[in-house]
Amino acid sequence: MNASPFFTEEHLMFKDTVNRFVEEHCSRKYARDNDVRREYPFEAYAAMAEQGYFGLCVPEEHGGMGADVIYRAILQEGLARYAFDLGAVYGLTCWGIETLLRFGTDAQRAKYIPPALAGKIRMSISMTEPNAGSDLSGIALKAEDKGDHYLLNGQKVFATAAGVKDNVIVLAARTGPPEPQRHSGITMFLVPCDTPGLECRKMPVLSRRMSGTYECFYTDVKVPKENMVGELHKGWKILGAFLVAERIGGAAMYVGNAQTAVDDAIRYAGERRQFGQPIGEFQAIKHALVDAATEIDAARLMTYQAAWMDARGIPALKEASMAKLFASEAGLRATNLGMQVLGGYAQLPEYDMERYWRDAKQNTVSSGTSQIQRNIIAKAIGLT
Ligand SMILES: Cc1cc2nc3c(=O)[nH]c(=O)nc-3n(C[C@H](O)[C@H](O)[C@H](O)COP(=O)(O)OP(=O)(O)OC[C@H]3O[C@@H](n4cnc5c(N)ncnc54)[C@H](O)[C@@H]3O)c2cc1C
Repeated sequence: MNASPFFTEEHLMFKDTVNRFVEEHCSRKYARDNDVRREYPFEAYAAMAEQGYFGLCVPEEHGGMGADVIYRAILQEGLARYAFDLGAVYGLTCWGIETLLRFGTDAQRAKYIPPALAGKIRMSISMTEPNAGSDLSGIALKAEDKGDHYLLNGQKVFATAAGVKDNVIVLAARTGPPEPQRHSGITMFLVPCDTPGLECRKMPVLSRRMSGTYECFYTDVKVPKENMVGELHKGWKILGAFLVAERIGGAAMYVGNAQTAVDDAIRYAGERRQFGQPIGEFQAIKHALVDAATEIDAARLMTYQAAWMDARGIPALKEASMAKLFASEAGLRATNLGMQVLGGYAQLPEYDMERYWRDAKQNTVSSGTSQIQRNIIAKAIGLT
């Protein structure tokens, strides 16, 4: 990561700590091996907890460090250096903790936040359904009021890390009538993944091979009323509450992983010889790598500009959405180039590029597709 006008001396010191942590606990080899075996990164997750990272932005009175969002972006950029997924599992639990801090009851905070900070439980978010993707107002998984509990019936898809042991799913379910106001009848619930009646099946997705992405079947799943998060029918507010922080975190991770892809491609281009010279001396390769490196620097600046604004309470929805859009697409272009520069070897796991490329493709879809980001930015700049 380059020096940035958005960092203080303390941010730079934290960056050094993160660098050491990543090389020790989230190394290239660790990322590669877990991705190949499609295994959840339990050891790295435990190390993050040990280091106190789940509490980085949590206020001190709740057991955290009370740091600003720039620190978290620095951490997420680092965690994703060798695999986007290592940053993603971190980000999911942070989202869960922040949801409870802002919308949970005292009892929920007391029950879930200390073990989440300690890495004893993990958290995930499950919104997407077969018929509700970009348009989440179409959520149909039903939660029926049965007096002392809710009864859940329906199906979710693409729920990252949902079925991993000790995971608590933050679930979006329909409690109200879908029409006329489809956004207003959604409620959030805490559902431990081992709740009877819930079956989580791993999906054979292209990306996210460590965290795992699940389809989840809810058949007469009972959740006690105290597991409802926030107000009845007001889940939409929760889903929209952390969009800026989420997009900044996402963009930081895309930048972290794309930088490694570009660095790997530059190194390879310097070593690989064809026609009597390193391939990096061919102008076609050299200029393409320059363009990719330039885009990643630009994406980083956009990301930390949005983080800097957010840390000061300056509205940054447009900037965060632009950073998410540009960083994810720059990451896809960079890894696509990496796949070309490494030739046939790019397709072997031991060269890592195919992992970066798979995850980069996914990053233009998850957390709001590129088209949805463009729609949001269009509104922010006065287009309808
Ligand atoms: C690996 C993986 C992990 C995921 N993890 C999670 C998770 O943890 N939790 C969770 O809830 N979800 C998760 N998702 C779901 C993800 O958020 C959705 O896939 C995404 O929001 C898009 O929804 P969709 O796939 O149904 O596509 P659709 O919404 O059907 O979109 C299909 C295409 O149409 C375009 N489109 C749709 N609407 C518009 C519009 N208004 N204007 C222009 N174009 C439009 C989209 O941009 C896209 O190109 C994950 C998905 C994957 C693949």
